[in-house]
Amino acid sequence: MQEIKPAAIQQLLEEAAPYCEQGELASYIPELTKADPQHLGIYLVTSDGKAIGFGDYQVPFTIQSISKVASLLLALRLYSPEEVFSRVGMEPSGTPFSELSGFRDLADTPANPFINSGALAVASLLANKISFEEYRAFVAALCHKPQLIITESVYRSEMAHSERNHSLAWELKRMRLLSADVEETLDFYTKACSLSVTAQDLACFAAYLAGICQAQVDNSGSSPADQSQVDLSLDPEHQKICLSLMFTCGLYDGSGRFAVKAGLPAKSGVGGGILAILPGQAGIATFGPALDHNGNSIGGIKLLELLSEQNDWHCLG
Ligand code: GLU
Repeated sequence: MQEIKPAAIQQLLEEAAPYCEQGELASYIPELTKADPQHLGIYLVTSDGKAIGFGDYQVPFTIQSISKVASLLLALRLYSPEEVFSRVGMEPSGTPFSELSGFRDLADTPANPFINSGALAVASLLANKISFEEYRAFVAALCHKPQLIITESVYRSEMAHSERNHSLAWELKRMRLLSADVEETLDFYTKACSLSVTAQDLACFAAYLAGICQAQVDNSGSSPADQSQVDLSLDPEHQKICLSLMFTCGLYDGSGRFAVKAGLPAKSGVGGGILAILPGQAGIATFGPALDHNGNSIGGIKLLELLSEQNDWHCLG
C-alpha cells in the first residue's frame, strides 16, 4: 500500500467541498432533510494498519442502502449463492433505485440486490431466518461498533412514507419471491436502513470487504470481545460477489460513470454515505448528505474520484 499523505487528502476534501452546493438532500424521507448539506468527510483504513479521517467523518447519519451490502453478505452465509440468486438478479437495472420497473421483466426477479425491490427480496430471506437483533449484531461487528443504534426518527419517517416500498413488497409477494410476510419484510428492511453510522464506522466495514485482516482494523470504543459472538470470516466467493455487484450496480444509475472515473467497487446510500473498496489495500468511506440526481452523495463521489485519480487506484487501470 502506498503511503497516504494527509495533506494531499485534506486538499482533495477542500476541492470536493464546493460540489456539495450543487446537490440536494433526500426529501422523500422527510427526516433526512434535517441533515447539513455542507457536511463532507472521509475515513480510510489501509492494509498497513493505518486509519485516518478528515472533515465530518464522525458525524452520524443513517446507513440507508449501504445496509444492502451487509444484507447480501449475510444472506449468502445463511443460504447459498444459488438460493439468493434464484430470487434476485445480478444485472444493473438502468432505472432509479425505487422504480417499480426494477423488475427486469414482469415475470422475472428484481434486477439486482441493491435496488429496493431486490433488497426487499433479500431482507425477506433474512427475516425468515434471523431476528433483527441478530442482523444488527452482524452489522455492528462489521463496523466495529458495539453500540449500533437505529435512528428512530428516520425509521418512523420512512415507515410513514413507504408507499413505494410497500408496492414493491406486494409485487414480490405476488411473484412468490417473498420469504417472510410483507409487513415483516418492510420492517426489517427499514430498520436496517435506519442504523446510525459514521464514515469511520463504514470504513471498518469497507476494510473488511477489502479483505484487510481484522486485527489491523481498529475503531475506537470497541474491543475484540464485543465481536466475539459473530463469525467474521469472509468467504472469498461471497467477497467476489459483493464487490462485483458493487462495481456494476452500487451507485444506481451513476455506477457506470463511477466505474470509469474512480474504478472502485462502491455502495451509496441516500443518507449521504459511500462505502468504497480498494481490494486488498484499503477500505474507504465518505459522508456528504447533498445528493446528485441519481441519489448519490455529490461531494463523496467527487472526493473518491479525485482520490482514485491522484493515487492511481482504478482497479482495472
Ligand atoms: N431506505 C431507502 C429507501 O428504501 C434507501 C434508499 C437508498 O439509500 O438508496 O428508499
